[in-house]
Amino acid sequence: MVVSTWDFGMAANQVAMDRLKDGASAMDAVEAGVRVSEADPRITSVGKGGFPDAEGDVTLDACIMDHQARCGAVAALENTLHPISVARAVMERTPHIFLVGQKAVDFARRLGFPKEDLLTHEARAAWKEWRKGNPRWRDFSTDISNHDTIGMLAIDARGNLSGACTTSGWAFKVPGRVGDSPIIGAGLFVDNEVGAATATGTGEEVIRISGAFLIVELMRNGYSPLQACQEAVRRVRKNNPNRKDLFVGFLALNKQGEFGAWATKSGFEYAVTSLTEHRLETSGY
Ligand code: ASP
Repeated sequence: MVVSTWDFGMAANQVAMDRLKDGASAMDAVEAGVRVSEADPRITSVGKGGFPDAEGDVTLDACIMDHQARCGAVAALENTLHPISVARAVMERTPHIFLVGQKAVDFARRLGFPKEDLLTHEARAAWKEWRKGNPRWRDFSTDISNHDTIGMLAIDARGNLSGACTTSGWAFKVPGRVGDSPIIGAGLFVDNEVGAATATGTGEEVIRISGAFLIVELMRNGYSPLQACQEAVRRVRKNNPNRKDLFVGFLALNKQGEFGAWATKSGFEYAVTSLTEHRLETSGY
């Protein structure tokens, strides 16, 4: 079973499921799956083609976690097409979990990840347009309408869970800003005894409730994936009683292959792929 956020999750799930059918681990499947979104320049919120920060630099955040609680993450990574694979390399090739900024780029280059310009013509045009109305960098965008991280959760033939999460973050963000997506326990969490969860939307609000970890713990205590996502949304709402426009969405998968999603408002879609089905679902809110 593979689930992932947003409609572009469909293409990513397909690749992940093909890998699972070939006998791959959930870890291999989620990495291969989200790489599809990272490489797609039409997706303006993940990888190549992602909208840049206020200074026009594309900075990427990603993390990955497996069934043994092994995990890796990168943040503020520039000029590198596949942050998820760099995150995996942090996990597998260092004693650490999280590398950031230029030193993370240096690490990637040492391992042979090539330098690549990620700012597409379209993303640059969007940034220039935004910049016209916001001549100083402090006038960062307060509207996270370009929210569309891919978070993917999978369970393999051995019954093991893994997850991956990758994003270009909040469009036109303050340079240096990092959201929830590369933070284990916020944008992604996996516990092989229980299940896995991921998040999309305004990352600051996901961090404030330790969103993905919260959902997995709720499932451990008997909540269904749907109920756990609903409770996480309730807590986001509690912290933001007056922000009707706030968007946060959660997606969860438990050890039995049951899944659920919930969001603060309408419009959240997620892709569900099993051996027999491949469909786009609409989350409640
Ligand atoms: N959660 C991501 C972030 O805050 C963006 C998103 O999914 O909308 O960076």
